[in-house]
Order: sequence, then structure tokens, then C-alpha cells
Amino acid sequence: MTARVNAVVVRAAGEAPEIAELQLPEIGPGQVRVRIRAAGVCHSDLSMVNGTLRPPYPLVLGHEAAGEVLEVGQGVTTAAVGDHVALNWQPACRMCWFCTHGQPWLCATTSGIAALENGSTLDGVPAHVTLGLGAFAEQVVVPQNAVIGVPRELDWAPAALLGCAVLTGTGAVRNAARVAAGESVLVIGLGGVGLSVVAAARAAGAGTVLAVDVSESKKALAEAAGATEFLVASEALSKEVRTRTEGRGADHAFECVGRSATIRAAWRATRRGGQVTVVGMGRHDDMVELSALDIFSSARTLRSSVYGNADPDAEIPALAADVLAGTLSIDHLVTDRIGLADVPAAFDRMSRGEGARSVVLL
Ligand SMILES: [Zn+2]
Ligand SMILES: [Zn+2]
Repeated sequence: MTARVNAVVVRAAGEAPEIAELQLPEIGPGQVRVRIRAAGVCHSDLSMVNGTLRPPYPLVLGHEAAGEVLEVGQGVTTAAVGDHVALNWQPACRMCWFCTHGQPWLCATTSGIAALENGSTLDGVPAHVTLGLGAFAEQVVVPQNAVIGVPRELDWAPAALLGCAVLTGTGAVRNAARVAAGESVLVIGLGGVGLSVVAAARAAGAGTVLAVDVSESKKALAEAAGATEFLVASEALSKEVRTRTEGRGADHAFECVGRSATIRAAWRATRRGGQVTVVGMGRHDDMVELSALDIFSSARTLRSSVYGNADPDAEIPALAADVLAGTLSIDHLVTDRIGLADVPAAFDRMSRGEGARSVVLL
């Protein structure tokens, strides 16, 4: 049985996303069909349409989602019909060198793929799905390792956010940077991921959490997430951070934008021996310039954090438990509840730097 579903589709490079009907593929061995109930609008979706990435088209957008399992294929062992699941855009093969050496987020089989062929448009053209998911759709057909069970009591919108923004942000703090109690933390860029970094840093016991954005309108969101102070991005950022960290600079800086200018700003605002963690995904031709002497004498660490350097199979259920227990608050991340047709307007809000997450509810 194949299903015909509505989805948010980009027909070709440079074209605006539109609602189109899709023919889902027949479910194969090891696959599951999921009815999407919530899907967050993430910056990586915008990167698929604004020229940052060059995925194949036609392309179904969306990769941060949760839903209900409708059908399971032959040999599926990890999900059953009726299960509530969050989607995982970096499913681990568990066989490659990275998976067998404790780094499933770098899985050689599935990592770095912008879009996979899956289903077709009604005129028979093969469709591609963002990060193997294409979650701005009423239903998806995905491999069983791309779904992770979540408790039924968890609302759909927070369940969706666990699959990208929350895992990415909390993992950057806990797994990549390992922020310790009492440390000072600077977070640049306050979208869904940046605000998750702020919340996780605070939960880790960071003493000072300075949250920075170009948009003054992010102040209330930053404070709700646990920032001790909000700063509007400016040329004077490094100085402003130093005056708040006894003249040294921050122990940790998290760059959640994905631009050379903000990576350099994060670098300059970090103390000698401090750590800069790049969480934002930038362009391949946006070069970061640092002097050889500065790299040596500053003694800083510059690293990236991919999907929170996490094993989603273990950490998404743990984050879900934290949300239900009230030890991790993510409700403030959802600023707009929208329908599929409102996704283009959500991209506009994101481009203007307004709000945190828009979540499509189906
Ligand atoms: Zn995302
Ligand atoms: Zn692997």
C-alpha cells in the first residue's frame, strides 16, 4: 500500500517551497512508515533553499520531527505500530569504523548526505528527502534506525525538537565542550540550537552565561533559557565579554551561526586556554582567518560539534526523560505553532532573526 501525502517541496534551485502531493514509496524490509505529528523549522532546512547547500531537487524539506508509527516492514525489530517516535537524521549503521569506535555521529555510511531519493512527485519525477527524512510531510517512509521511541506522555512539539535543536545544543555542551560547574560560557546566535546551548550550559552549572544575538528581540528568549545576561552583537563583543569575566574572556564560546565572522568573534572573546565550539553549519567557501602566532600563543581549542557528538539512540530517550521530569525545560523554544503551508513564512521570520522555533503541527 503506498500513500499519497501533502508535503513542503522545493522544485528546483532558487524556487520557493510549495505544498505538493507526493507518492510515498512502498515500505520495504527494515523500513517504517511514520505519520508526522510535529516538525520543527530548522536553519538547515533554510540552508537547503538559500544556496548554502546544493541538494538535489525536487526536494522535500524537514528533518526535525516526531510522529506515530503506522506500518513496519519485514524484519523491523526496533519499532512497532502505534509507537511514538522522534526522527534521527544521522542514523548509525553500527558497522563502520566510526560507529564501532564510539563516534556514531560521524557514521561513514550515512554522514554528510544532504538528501536521499525517496518517493516521487505525482508526475513521476523521483523526489529527494532532506537528510534522509523529508519530514515536512504528512507521512514519511524511513529506515528503522532513523526512528527512536519516545514516551507517549511527551507532547509532539518538544518530541520533534529533541531530534535536532535540543540534541545538537545539549550535546555540544555536555559531550563536545564538557562545560563544568562554575565556568563562564558565551553563546553566539540564539535560534533553536543556540537557546538549547544556553539552557544546557545553565543546567551544567555554568556561572556566567552570556547570550549574544544581532536581534534585540531575542533578549526575553535568552533569559527564559537561562542566560545570565543578553548582549547585542557588536564589534565591541570581545571587550564586553572580558569586562564580565575578570578581564580574561570566556572559558567557553559556542558559535551557533555558521559564519567566519562569528567564529572569529567567538575566538577573540574566549580566554587564553579556552575552548571554542562551532555548532553552526556554514558555507564551504567562507574562510576563517586566524594567525599562526595567535593559534599557538592563545592556547585555545577550536572544535566543531556535529549533531551534539551524541549517540541519539541513547541520548534522545534520556533527554525525553529529563523533559518529563522537569529537569530540562524546552517549551520556551517553541515560539510559533504553524501548518505546512506556513513554512515559507517561518523561513522569512528565521531570516529576519525573529522568534526561536516554528513547529508545524499536523
Ligand atoms: Zn536541524
Ligand atoms: Zn556507521
